[in-house]
Amino acid sequence: MRFFKIAQDEPEWSFPEAEHDYDPGWDYDVDESPDEELKAYTESVIEEINSKIMPVVDMEMAKAAYLTLEDRGIAVYISGTAPYPVFGIDIKAIAKACENMCGEYGGDVCVEVRIGIRSSLMHELGHAIQDWMDLPMDEEQAENFARIYCDTGEIMTLNGNSE
Ligand SMILES: [Zn+2]
Repeated sequence: MRFFKIAQDEPEWSFPEAEHDYDPGWDYDVDESPDEELKAYTESVIEEINSKIMPVVDMEMAKAAYLTLEDRGIAVYISGTAPYPVFGIDIKAIAKACENMCGEYGGDVCVEVRIGIRSSLMHELGHAIQDWMDLPMDEEQAENFARIYCDTGEIMTLNGNSE
């Protein structure tokens, strides 16, 4: 399923570069007050995706939406939005999960939250690549893509890619 621009009005959610007009507010609760520091970190990961990974995987541009996902997880790729993938991310939920984890097992919450944001976005990017390449949604493959990139900086080639 693809989304194309039909509206003339500039929506609150703005992704003018995209060829679709998908607005996360249609399907999700928008987090109106994401933590500024974590939002800035998230934007830096999106910039990294756009500059380093998108050209390699033949996509155009990614954008993050700050959402409250509740029982729908901590991050989501909006199916059908590639090659301008929209990633929903719930940074409050990621922060809370990391606080709980560090409370129980120890560790630095600030560090863990950033790892959580980065690896979640890379996992969802794996799904966006699957979608763009007409591959089946594969959790293990998306997770491997994220893990290999986060650990080594290497961009894993997904099945079906001719390169
Ligand atoms: Zn997944």
